[in-house]
Amino acid sequence: MEHKIQLYNTLTRSKEVFEPLVPGKVGLYVCGPTVYGPAHLGHARPAITFDLLFRYFQHIGYKVRYVRNITDVGHLVADADDGEDKIAQKARLEELEPMEVVQIYTNEFHKAMEMLNVLPPSIEPRASGHIIEQIEEVRKILAAGYAYESQGSVYFDVEKFAKDHSYGKLSGRKIEDLISNTRDLDGQHEKRSGLDFALWKKAQPEHIMRWPSPWSDGFPGWHLECTAMSTKYLGEVFDIHGGGMDLTFPHHEAEIAQARAAHGKDAVRYWMHNNMITLNGQKMGKSLGNAISLSQFLSGDHPLLEQAYSAMTIRFFMLQSHYRSTLDFSNEALQAAEKGLERLMKAVEKIDSLPVSASSTVNVAELRANCYAAMDDDLNSPIAIAHLFEGVRMINAITDGKEQISASDKEELKQLFCTFVFDILGLKAEQAAPGGQSETLKEVVDLLLKLRLEAKQNKDWGTSDRIRNELTALGFEIKDTKDGFTWELKK
Ligand code: ZN
Repeated sequence: MEHKIQLYNTLTRSKEVFEPLVPGKVGLYVCGPTVYGPAHLGHARPAITFDLLFRYFQHIGYKVRYVRNITDVGHLVADADDGEDKIAQKARLEELEPMEVVQIYTNEFHKAMEMLNVLPPSIEPRASGHIIEQIEEVRKILAAGYAYESQGSVYFDVEKFAKDHSYGKLSGRKIEDLISNTRDLDGQHEKRSGLDFALWKKAQPEHIMRWPSPWSDGFPGWHLECTAMSTKYLGEVFDIHGGGMDLTFPHHEAEIAQARAAHGKDAVRYWMHNNMITLNGQKMGKSLGNAISLSQFLSGDHPLLEQAYSAMTIRFFMLQSHYRSTLDFSNEALQAAEKGLERLMKAVEKIDSLPVSASSTVNVAELRANCYAAMDDDLNSPIAIAHLFEGVRMINAITDGKEQISASDKEELKQLFCTFVFDILGLKAEQAAPGGQSETLKEVVDLLLKLRLEAKQNKDWGTSDRIRNELTALGFEIKDTKDGFTWELKK
């Protein structure tokens, strides 16, 4: 392997040279969405972060098995062990079957990922399709003595586990602090300790999603699915586990404990976490009234948005920040990203028509080395992009005759830009970029329809009908309204 990639391992809190378990192959597991609502930026960041990793690994020659799950059962409201399932709650409110809710939002998530040019994972397993595997993990943890049955439910015994193994090492929490911070178990008599988490929950009579098990008709605990599915598809020990930083505790800590208890070993070699997104400096959340869905970003239909932003603008904006940094969304920052992306794309288009000289005054080999060095350094996409912008300045200087490039360097420059912009960063040309062609088209159609309105006012029916008929023939649907007109392009 030509490249040695350094990756920051959350577990050791340091950058480590990545060495796969099996040479040339990478096993990657990333926690996917709980599909009970529209796709939002919180979904986009881990998706884009691990898409970048997936793309880069493949580019440098690894065969990657990328598993990203769909949580369609067991994730209870408020991430708790008691209460309603998030999907069941949505199903009740919308009067749908839970699996209809799952399908609607899985489809929507896939559509959003496609627009963001996020490659589909190698396997996308659903929690509800792996109940047998989850029951098997519960059996193993019970047999190892780190779980107990209580009134039809099974709980992981955190304090007992912590006596024999470490608990909290990923999130940096100490078991003594966790114990002293745990509230009294008023009304939660099923559990021995508030720290314990459910592996299997007995379903209440009103609970719709339920399966038979040795303990009760019920459903698996949220943390268990990732242990069961990563083991099934990647093995008991695998290379990389990723997800959002908010998942380190309790979700990933629980995964570490479950795997150790069930299989007697640590499952994950490198833990990678993307940082969170803020909006105008504030945490994003439904309760704060600033949760913006991806479709709202694309339509601009939200009071906090000054305009619509294209999917590639969002992707480019995210890549301009390192995945371990917080990312603040603001109109100003997005507009800057939009302009930057346009400059980058225009430069790519210009490369073919650059004039060549006998020798170069620019150093393409150095530029190439810098781009790769940035990516090899814990996927430092903002630095890689900064180097690409040096390349943009290079391209513009050659166009202006201030620098010279040889034919072979021009070929290398083109390959470098195409590889980085399209294959690694996963950017693509967009037809409907705001301010681009579609904006001009809108202005032209509006202008024609205003002329038609004037013709009508002047009782020039010939001109008015002609504009209407010809636009209709081109596929425009025109409606006259009290105040003027509306139109739509029907394909
Ligand atoms: Zn997970």
